[in-house]
Amino acid sequence: MNTSTIEELCMQKGLRMTGQRRVIAQVLDRAFDHPDVEELYRRSVAIDEKISIATVYRTVKLLEEFDIIERHDFRDGRSRYEPAPEDHHDHLIDLKSGKVIEFTSEEIEKLQVEIARKLGFKLVDHRLELYGVPIEGSKTSDSEEPE
Ligand SMILES: [Zn+2]
Repeated sequence: MNTSTIEELCMQKGLRMTGQRRVIAQVLDRAFDHPDVEELYRRSVAIDEKISIATVYRTVKLLEEFDIIERHDFRDGRSRYEPAPEDHHDHLIDLKSGKVIEFTSEEIEKLQVEIARKLGFKLVDHRLELYGVPIEGSKTSDSEEPE
């Protein structure tokens, strides 16, 4: 979770904040479910009906270029976004519901550093996505986010 809001980060990086950008920034700040542009548009237009999907696209692209938000491709053909996290986490995608579950694993982190080192590299970044379906009868990690 971020301690600075997206709007604060924009101002730190010298981005001009219009009223519409501010709305989109707010929507992103409140989004914990990795929404795509269409979903961001739906939420933004509920606050300011004059916002167009083109504006959402442009704003999201700009925020991504400035490393304020992160784009993910979870193989469902749409880009999904989240505020750039302060603490690293990886994702597990529930192929049945499309739900995205965040996790961290010390072991995986260590193993990746080790693998990179063996190959002669210093690890600077990585992305890990797990794709799965719920095992019947087992409790899956659930969020309160509605579909
Ligand atoms: Zn995430």
